[in-house]
Amino acid sequence: MSLFAIDGFVKNFGALRATDNVSLTVDAGEIHALIGPNGAGKSTLVNLISGLFPPDAGRIVLDGRDLTPLSMNQRVHAGLSRCFQITSIFKNATVMDNLLLAVQAHAGSSLRFLKVRDSEEALRAAALALGQRVGLAGLEQRIAGTLPHGVQRKLDVALALASRPKVLLLDEPMAGMGPEDSAQMVALIHTLKKDMAILLIEHDMKAVFELADRISVLVYGRVLTSGTADGIRGNPQVQAVYLGSEEVPA
Ligand code: ADP
Ligand code: MG
Repeated sequence: MSLFAIDGFVKNFGALRATDNVSLTVDAGEIHALIGPNGAGKSTLVNLISGLFPPDAGRIVLDGRDLTPLSMNQRVHAGLSRCFQITSIFKNATVMDNLLLAVQAHAGSSLRFLKVRDSEEALRAAALALGQRVGLAGLEQRIAGTLPHGVQRKLDVALALASRPKVLLLDEPMAGMGPEDSAQMVALIHTLKKDMAILLIEHDMKAVFELADRISVLVYGRVLTSGTADGIRGNPQVQAVYLGSEEVPA
């Protein structure tokens, strides 16, 4: 059984079926990428998975637990974390304060038996380690909002990691990035996959083909096909979908 599964998701907006019986799985240690042209229903699917709104039909299961009735916050606590396309960082706060807030929010009862001073030490150590993990070492005292876009996106990933997710939902992590930042983000995501299952929604085909163990192609709300990078690249149906667009898988 897969670590993470969505099963038969349906979402209608009035007469429009934006999500049409979508099922997919992600295993531990796997990156499953979801691609598709504009309007295919990628954002709707992300919103269904994170729990922003409920599906009209279907279930979402993590580690054998049915998350369908859970709120967004409850899903995060259950091990499903989302990295937002619109960044969730506090722009006027330092990198360190952003990290501290995130770590503290998920520390739960683990610090309960420590003295105040020791628990503050433990939080700082955890925040520093989290920053280091995503490549923010040395930038802790900078005001987050003044940092380059690519660096802010790394912080965004760090905030999503603070909850120690079993499944990480990455919604266009390379959006608005140049090639250098994009390459760094690819490297960062690659280091994460040993610790979690990753569902990657991304426009940047180069990144997708570098990272994904499996790729599913969404078209008109349906999964057109799923396969390895090589299988998807050579699939005539997929090429037809992307024909005439700049996103043609290379
Ligand atoms: P993608 O992210 O792949 O570009 P979306 O999930 O944003 O696709 O949209 C899928 C379809 O659902 C589109 O036709 C879009 O116009 C429609 N849609 C998305 N959100 C809403 C909404 N809140 N109300 C009505 N229609 C919507
Ligand atoms: Mg979208």
